[in-house]
Amino acid sequence: MKKYNFNAGPSILPREVIEATAAACLDFNGSGLSLMEISHRAKDFQPVVDEAVALFKELLNIPEGYSVLFLGGGASLEFCMVPFNFLEKKAAYLNTGVWAKKAIKEAKAFGEVVEVASSADTTYSYIPKGYEIPADADYFHITTNNTIYGTEIREDLDSPVPMIADMSSDIFSRPIDVSKYICIYGGAQKNLSMAGLTFVIVKDEAVGKVSRYIPTMLNYQTHIDGGSMFNTPPVVPIYCALQNLKWIKAHGGVEAMDKRAHERAELLYAEIDRNKLFRGTVEKEDRSVMNICFVMNDEYKDLEADFMKFATERGMVGIKGHRSVGGFRASCYNAMDIEGVQALVDCMQEFEKLH
Ligand SMILES: *Cc1c(COP(=O)(O)O)cnc(C)c1O
Repeated sequence: MKKYNFNAGPSILPREVIEATAAACLDFNGSGLSLMEISHRAKDFQPVVDEAVALFKELLNIPEGYSVLFLGGGASLEFCMVPFNFLEKKAAYLNTGVWAKKAIKEAKAFGEVVEVASSADTTYSYIPKGYEIPADADYFHITTNNTIYGTEIREDLDSPVPMIADMSSDIFSRPIDVSKYICIYGGAQKNLSMAGLTFVIVKDEAVGKVSRYIPTMLNYQTHIDGGSMFNTPPVVPIYCALQNLKWIKAHGGVEAMDKRAHERAELLYAEIDRNKLFRGTVEKEDRSVMNICFVMNDEYKDLEADFMKFATERGMVGIKGHRSVGGFRASCYNAMDIEGVQALVDCMQEFEKLH
């Protein structure tokens, strides 16, 4: 039976990307050695990093003066690296979920943190609007896609101060105006590569402005200077990222990924809104096109486990909602074909007919 991978992360990758990475793990570039057993400084590997950085910049149309870094530690380490490197006195944060909250917690160790708005009152079912960003903040931090709740800020906001964004779960799903940000980061395991890699886009001239000592490995300057090779980077996930960047380019770039994402999301949300058994969990205008959350309508609540079993038997994988929201979550990252979403919609319709 064909499996449809709706996992939230680590998550679906194009088959070609997995096959190319697996092949390099057996024999890298015809060298007779595995990608896993060569030096990151081998002359064959440097072009992998160079090409990945170049494609990353090309696909996102990143302006001059920015560096792309490939690091370890996940988005979670960036929650601390960001304030370490950029927070001198005060920073503004938008609280749109668990990940935003974790970023806020770390920032508080470095200076004053202004939480400009929060949607915690409704389990983060909407994106706050109409808040004020202090003009004397060093930066304004947002989480563009709230993976757990299924809300998304799918535009580049206006801000009186430079922005920093956690784009773990929607990077490469739409064009971004990178010039509005001094830093964009994320774990690669949602929409870019396998687990073990963190990407950081950083504006070079924004680094080095804080007065504190920054430990070498946590200082962005170290990794800008070292071209992500100050120490051993995650070699296999970088190779996998390169294969995926090539796949994105071959499939029309981020504009095409944006179109695919909207087609998938429209199909699934239309069914959630139509089907008497289900309802969405967040404000319609803030719905994520990447992580689509839904629950059983109140009068059908006791059918939840039945639907999970029904869908699992038909090849749906990873549709269980996060424990804080319950119900279901279909994560539809770049590699998810419309066919997969159609299969889920078919499941929902067949199940409705039984009840
Ligand atoms: C998954 C996720 C994280 C955590 O990423 P790690 O790489 O596991 O640290 C942070 N932010 C968002 C938005 C996420 O989806």
